[in-house]
Amino acid sequence: MPLIVQKYGGTSVGNLDRIRNVAKRIAKRAETGDNIVVVVSAMTGETDRLIQLAQKITSRPNHREMDMLLSTGERVTIALLAMTLQEMGWPAQSFTGRQVGIVTDNVHSQARIEEIQADRLRDALSKKIIPVVAGFQGINRNSDVTTLGRGGSDTTAVALAAALKADLCEIYTDVDGVYTTDPNIVSNARRMHKISYEEMLEMASLGAKVLQTRSVEFAMKYRVPVCVRTSFYDRPGTLVTEEDVEMEQELVSGITYDKNQAKVTLVGVPDRPGIASTIFEAISKENVNVDMIIQNVGQAGLTDLSFTVPQTDAVQAKTLLTELSEEIGVAEVLVTENIAKVSIVGVGMRSHTGVAAKTFTSLAAEGINIMMISTSEIKISCVIESKYTELAVRTLHDAFELGADRPPAKEPA
Ligand code: ASP
Ligand code: MG
Repeated sequence: MPLIVQKYGGTSVGNLDRIRNVAKRIAKRAETGDNIVVVVSAMTGETDRLIQLAQKITSRPNHREMDMLLSTGERVTIALLAMTLQEMGWPAQSFTGRQVGIVTDNVHSQARIEEIQADRLRDALSKKIIPVVAGFQGINRNSDVTTLGRGGSDTTAVALAAALKADLCEIYTDVDGVYTTDPNIVSNARRMHKISYEEMLEMASLGAKVLQTRSVEFAMKYRVPVCVRTSFYDRPGTLVTEEDVEMEQELVSGITYDKNQAKVTLVGVPDRPGIASTIFEAISKENVNVDMIIQNVGQAGLTDLSFTVPQTDAVQAKTLLTELSEEIGVAEVLVTENIAKVSIVGVGMRSHTGVAAKTFTSLAAEGINIMMISTSEIKISCVIESKYTELAVRTLHDAFELGADRPPAKEPA
């Protein structure tokens, strides 16, 4: 019998009616004889609510306590969904991350799964029980609760699918699939019927919020087919899968944007071996993620260095670099927050030329200045002023003819 992991996001379990709707969906699938493992998120807004509570006590809550707090959101939904299924006559049982043996590293609030001892899940499945597992949480080797970063339930689902060698991992979310770009910005954005792991990985890490980046890494590594779909309608969704010939024929698959970045510029950096290493080692020690890095040609023994960091880390990066700059003799540390990164992604770029030229020409035609550029085999990212984000996304979506004629359907209120 096929084994399916189904993950339901916060909006899908946002109230008791929606939980009932999810239970019906699970029941319908279980009736076909499929084995099902369910993973759920906290109810919509719950994780944010808990974060705000903690912020009322302190602006820097202890990480261990924070994970203890945030992990409660998912415990509520597993119990409510299991009860609902039981009321409908199904043998369901709720499980915390710990109970299904999700072991992570020690990085509270950003933990990475190291091991899954899924014995308890296998045992439940063999008894025809439908396990309902709390997403987003695990335990470290000291048995302390950890969480996997915002959106981490996706990763729980894909990781369980990998561990159990499931046939499919379905991610039920508030949109009915992966779109060529954000439909809130471009009304004729098109749902893709499939996308390769690599493209999805780029899109997720470049700002598409539909899947947590880590979950795509897992899916790619363990070759788990993932289907992104909505729990509100019966629609096919988008399959995230192996690359095929059809995908390569598309020049560009999608456009993403990320407004949560900040640009850090170090002015007058001594141009000698070891300086970049000192700077980036100091930053990485603080767990700040650095992305695009640009170093200018040196002049008179000095150079400028710019890079992007998540906006939430900008203040921390500035403080740290200002201290360091005295030590190594950097003239100035500048942080700009009103930037956005707009990216185009597509495996077709490997075999087609002219994508970069077309991107830059289209942005120039709209008078949009490009501050930084970075590329990989299958993506081009440009940092621009954030006020031009929507214009840039629309312009590129049109330039690469990604639109559909029909506007996509919206989620019911
Ligand atoms: N509840 C967590 C969050 O809001 C995890 C998740 O929903 O995937 O980020
Ligand atoms: Mg999510």
